[in-house]
Amino acid sequence: MWRRVVRCLQTNPVGQMRMSQSTFAGKVAVVTASTDGIGLAAAQALGQRGAHVVVSSRKQANVDKAVALLQNQNIRVTGTTCNVGKEEDREKLVQLTLDQCGGIDILVSNAAVNPFFGNTMDSTEEIWNKILSVNVTAAFLMAKLVVPHMEKRGGGNIVFVSSIGGYQPMQGLGPYCVSKSALLGLTKVLAPELAPSNIRVNGVAPGVIRTRFSSALWENEDFMDEFSKQLSIKRAGETEEIGSVISFLCSEEASYITGETIVASGGFSSRL
Ligand code: NAP
Repeated sequence: MWRRVVRCLQTNPVGQMRMSQSTFAGKVAVVTASTDGIGLAAAQALGQRGAHVVVSSRKQANVDKAVALLQNQNIRVTGTTCNVGKEEDREKLVQLTLDQCGGIDILVSNAAVNPFFGNTMDSTEEIWNKILSVNVTAAFLMAKLVVPHMEKRGGGNIVFVSSIGGYQPMQGLGPYCVSKSALLGLTKVLAPELAPSNIRVNGVAPGVIRTRFSSALWENEDFMDEFSKQLSIKRAGETEEIGSVISFLCSEEASYITGETIVASGGFSSRL
């Protein structure tokens, strides 16, 4: 029996099972909030595997920089500004993608804000409205906009970027963590509804990843010392380690996975 397993591993080395430059050939991927951090890493991972990626964020200068960086890596890329909280921006992003790329196969909904740190009981209606409208409502509305175009292509993939905080709330980040739990629910709700259209809906829940967004956490040695005690892999994560999970979820290698959120947190507890 073991001899058969070893032979199988010899003929199918792990390297051969890895995704190739043509995994997403002919596919168009829209990644929101993708001029930095996890969104940019997702665009890179999808683009390196052959997708035409559409990157966007609020600031034109950031879009220009991200487009140049991806072009330098021979990735097919289109860029535009899009604040996901604005309906006209979301529509512009989708229309531009259709005009310039001819369709949409993949949506990575990555944008989020967190304008509040403190006791949840001190948060205001304004804060809740802001967090929920950008982190949850806009994520759903982006999905709603792209689904008819995925259906025209015979299917597609949606990935919501949630957070480990959606499973295990972090102190001081109450409303943000609630918004990230909502994305776990949105993933579960949309997966069966969109399965008949051959659209898979999944999520990724990163732990602490070294980006600007979370710099207050990973740059704080005291926090990291304490936090690391709860990690199996005792370091903050890198953006590429989330980009690769997103790319896996969008690939045919994940063809039997829908409605799931993969936790990539270095082993931080993740039970809701
Ligand atoms: P980041 O490195 O700070 O990048 C944020 C990106 O979002 C930038 O490109 C920014 O560009 C853009 N952006 C901000 N607000 C936007 C808006 N309203 N509409 C469109 N684009 C917007 O952040 P990140 O850490 O990669 O975070 C990305 C996602 O990962 C978020 O959903 C976050 O909740 C999640 N996450 C992060 C961590 C972590 O430890 N870093 C952990 C768990 C989950 P502009 O300024 O030009 O708009």
